Amino acid sequence: MTRKFTSDRILIATHNAGKLEEMRELFAPRGITVVGAKEMELAEPEETEDTFIGNARIKAHAATKATGLPALADDSGIEVAALGNAPGVYTADWAETSSGRDFVMAMEKTHALLEEADAPHPRAARFCATLVLAWPDGHDEVVEGFVDGVFVWPMRGTIGHGYDPIFQPHGEQRTFAEMSHDEKNAISHRAEAFKKLVAKCFD
Ligand code: IMP
Repeated sequence: MTRKFTSDRILIATHNAGKLEEMRELFAPRGITVVGAKEMELAEPEETEDTFIGNARIKAHAATKATGLPALADDSGIEVAALGNAPGVYTADWAETSSGRDFVMAMEKTHALLEEADAPHPRAARFCATLVLAWPDGHDEVVEGFVDGVFVWPMRGTIGHGYDPIFQPHGEQRTFAEMSHDEKNAISHRAEAFKKLVAKCFD
């Protein structure tokens, strides 16, 4: 049976400042206090699964067990059709360097692979987000959201995080990095998953 969320605090199981900020904005109107994994000094568990759901489950269950708070984890990424849906669950890994994540490098790599493959334009891409809300007793609820669009080059815009500057959603002339947070939150993959989660567990 679906479980409803009844607490006034939620732990967001991410060390990603961009994602945490988006979640804070999404939960603010509901009067729910958002706590980040970093401020709780939680270790980042290894994401050993090859699906968004599998990795989101690892993060949500590790965080709720460590703190006793209901925990929400997101696993997300971008799938580029001409690259066989890569980088997908490895989206963050493509940005990894010895001195932290470099998303410009990751976007350049994605572009270089598309050029190498001589991929025709427009280059279909899609952002995917899976949210898992987990409780300390092991129960969880899972929802997914998607936004379809195209991979554009060169990068455009300075707002947002990650691969925002190369993703232009269908029906838009701007990339995610050229939209305000509110505009992006109205249509993003995470916002769609969030709406489903609210309908399922918070209404
Ligand atoms: P993970 O979910 O922490 O494994 O990382 C997913 C990666 O996908 C993030 O580090 C971002 O690079 C990328 N990503 C996910 N959602 C977005 C988004 O809304 N904008 C830009 N990049 C995103």
